[in-house]
Amino acid sequence: MADVSLRNVKKQFGALSVIKGVDLDVKDGEFCVFVGPSGCGKSTLLRMIAGLEDITSGSLAIGGKDMTNVGPSERGVAMVFQSYALYPHMTVAENIGFGLKMTGHPKSLIAERTAMAAKMLQLDALLQRKPGQLSGGQRQRVAIGRAIVRNPEVFLFDEPLSNLDAALRVQMRSELSKLHQDLKATMIYVTHDQVEAMTMADKIVVLSAGKIEQVGSPLELYHRPNNLFVAGFIGSPK
Ligand code: ADP
Ligand code: MG
Repeated sequence: MADVSLRNVKKQFGALSVIKGVDLDVKDGEFCVFVGPSGCGKSTLLRMIAGLEDITSGSLAIGGKDMTNVGPSERGVAMVFQSYALYPHMTVAENIGFGLKMTGHPKSLIAERTAMAAKMLQLDALLQRKPGQLSGGQRQRVAIGRAIVRNPEVFLFDEPLSNLDAALRVQMRSELSKLHQDLKATMIYVTHDQVEAMTMADKIVVLSAGKIEQVGSPLELYHRPNNLFVAGFIGSPK
């Protein structure tokens, strides 16, 4: 597994400065949550760690190696997309194994990893179904399964539960926390939901307009917010 560190990372879209110098260390095995209002740059920051967006300036290291200009497939990271990104014509098993198939892994390894991920995510009985025959929560599990089989050192999640209803969100929160314990992987999780952040995180990063307002454990942020923005964001009911 791997730690992730960002040094003075900036992102510019044309004249628009979206990430304005972020320094951050996510420890090996940590569950780190990015929170902040819509448009503050959470997804952009995550996509830069994934290698899906160029870093305008500054540097990124994963597991002590400089990854600033390394392609997304060589970073040892896997991003979990929202459940609607599944292939509708493929079975659950085919969806989970697809990335490995495309990168030329042998069938036996794909079958083995798919079975392991399915067991972890309670999808064993659903492997021959198509996404259209699954509930929202089951579809989201398949999306997570696609990341697990790649054996990444770092998992990146961008609001993975935002399409689910409230009851299912609560259930999936605890399933994701369990998964984090089982895999002992580094996870970076984006949400605009402070309840999600407070219940799941080891470390919370509060962002506002492309800058970090505060980094701390849920308790630190709750008891000792740096400023009114953090206090308001962490304290306000959803
Ligand atoms: P969040 O995930 O916190 O809601 P985003 O990272 O998606 O925020 O966006 C941050 C800002 O960057 C927003 O103002 C958004 O409009 C802008 N932005 C994001 N992607 C692009 C892009 N590809 N081109 C131009 N502006 C972008
Ligand atoms: Mg976003």
